[in-house]
Amino acid sequence: MTKDQFRQATCIVGRYGKLLTFVPFFTVLGLTPLFVWRFGHAIQTFGLWLRTKTQNETLVGLVGGLVIGGIFVVVVLIFLLPELWLDRRFGIRRPGCRNSLAFGGRRDQVLQTGHCFSCHHKLFEVTA
Ligand SMILES: [Zn+2]
Repeated sequence: MTKDQFRQATCIVGRYGKLLTFVPFFTVLGLTPLFVWRFGHAIQTFGLWLRTKTQNETLVGLVGGLVIGGIFVVVVLIFLLPELWLDRRFGIRRPGCRNSLAFGGRRDQVLQTGHCFSCHHKLFEVTA
């Protein structure tokens, strides 16, 4: 493998990965006002019910934070799954250690050094 072949292969995976991540993300972000419009009353009713039951604003804030934080974590994981799948299916992996060489910031590290970031196996010559 040459440096240019590595760069091209990782660019394709990165480009389609970003496409599969950001198009659904901005679609859901655009639909958020619709979600709030549809379920806002139910959320407000639940908050009022919890306030009257517990009489504890700290607990209400904690439950609200946990629910919103939980939803946020699940949504982020859902949006990252297509890119992780693409990397797993089409990404470049070093046969010896099976580490992905293209995901995250590893691509730039491999491009600079020409070696696997994990097992330091030489992948290609680095020329200026
Ligand atoms: Zn390796």
